[in-house]
Amino acid sequence: MTSHQALPRHARHRRWLPRSWSLRALPTPALVLVLAVEAVALAQIATDVSHTVRHALVPVREELVLTGLLILVAAVHTELSLSAERLRRRIAETRFVNMTSVWTFAGALLLPPLAATAVVVGVYLHLYLRVSRDAGVPPHRHVFSTATMVLAVHAAAAVRLFTADPASTAISPHVAGVVLGALVAFTLVNTLLVVSVLRLTRPGSRFLRILLGGEILLELATLSLGGLVAVIIGNTTPWLVLLAVLPLLVLEQTTLVRQLEAQVDTDAKTGLLNPAAWRRRTGQLLERSHRSGRAAAVLILDLDHFKAINDRHGHLAGDDVLQAVSRVLTEEVRDRDLVGRFGGEEFVVALGGLRPDDVVSGRAREVAERVRRRVESLAVDTGTAGRVGALSVSVGVAASPDHGGAGAETGAGGGIGAGVGVDELLAAADTALYEAKRGGRNRVRVRPPATGPDTRCAEPATPPCGLRFGT
Ligand code: GH3
Ligand code: MG
Ligand code: MG
Repeated sequence: MTSHQALPRHARHRRWLPRSWSLRALPTPALVLVLAVEAVALAQIATDVSHTVRHALVPVREELVLTGLLILVAAVHTELSLSAERLRRRIAETRFVNMTSVWTFAGALLLPPLAATAVVVGVYLHLYLRVSRDAGVPPHRHVFSTATMVLAVHAAAAVRLFTADPASTAISPHVAGVVLGALVAFTLVNTLLVVSVLRLTRPGSRFLRILLGGEILLELATLSLGGLVAVIIGNTTPWLVLLAVLPLLVLEQTTLVRQLEAQVDTDAKTGLLNPAAWRRRTGQLLERSHRSGRAAAVLILDLDHFKAINDRHGHLAGDDVLQAVSRVLTEEVRDRDLVGRFGGEEFVVALGGLRPDDVVSGRAREVAERVRRRVESLAVDTGTAGRVGALSVSVGVAASPDHGGAGAETGAGGGIGAGVGVDELLAAADTALYEAKRGGRNRVRVRPPATGPDTRCAEPATPPCGLRFGT
């Protein structure tokens, strides 16, 4: 059964109403960019058509055959990798690489721009009907992907037309240069446009993180294969393209496994690390810090009176608040720091690679204060209850190694060893959080961790024994 059948009738109908395209949900700058990209792509197609008509460019038979063949092979490729591709689309939020680029890029290298555009449109129409629609991708996002692909194909075709004899694909160093130039142009246009919209849609998300999370290597691998396909077709018979299908399917499976691994570590609601992953990676971060003589700190954050927010505005609005706070946390720390959700309205942050001076906990406190102030000034646009503000968070901080600064708040002295583990830091930060709550909430408290492992904890469970996580 296709998921089209699985959809209730009214949902199927609603999907096509502009209101439900969720275009309106885009922030204005992102919306402007999306519409501009689509307008430029349309203008480009119109220019191609008028150029073809004006010069009475009748497509030669080989071009027609190749256009049809590329669409057909792409369709076969999509059908063979259907379950993997649907799963990839569901689980990877920022993914934008589509392995059908092999065929669209080969089209850009071998065909006139209008025919290369026809390949893109054919391939993307099939992808929408068979993959994106079932995965719940809004149509406007698919139209945008198609438009960026049209522009990327034109960028690649422009490099080819400006640098080479379009009729020649004979293997030579010159051809290699053309393929490489076209590959760079294609990647630049596609990646920059998609990453820019993602960044405008989710302000604060880091450009590099999206880029790397967005499988840039996979994009390059796919396009390289597309380049090889084009050279093979140009020099032998088009039917040899079928040889590329199997390596593609294997590449896709490998990527899927990598994405599933990443998903296992992720909290579904916020996209942050889940407790098990956070603890594992923080353990590694502490070890690294220890080995390199650097310091580290752990923050535990608990939203104040969150139950009241749920009671007043509803759980859905509460979820929006949790997501907004997650974004604040990722924005306020560096990419290498680790942000996790420990459950409910509790978050954890590990700051690594800190200078091991006598103000480590002071600097960790600064980060915590920054987060606390940002949460205090948040006005979250919720889908169900309008703007929700008046939020606050209490934060407990513990640093390792700490040479004395930590006691400033609590009166306890520092001077701990460098081999403090995750559990000790968490326990100290949790005590500090408890003090922050008792002290009136909406504040930061710092504690030095106790030395030595807690021998009462036989099993390094998640959450560690004795802590109150997930409440
Ligand atoms: P305190 O200042 O002492 O932390 O008070 P609190 O109300 O934040 O703490 P309490 O532990 O009493 O309530 C936590 C609430 O968090 C209760 C629970 O319904 C809510 N909660 C837990 N997980 C989720 C979630 O995923 N979504 C939403 N919306 N609420 C959640
Ligand atoms: Mg709370
Ligand atoms: Mg709690």
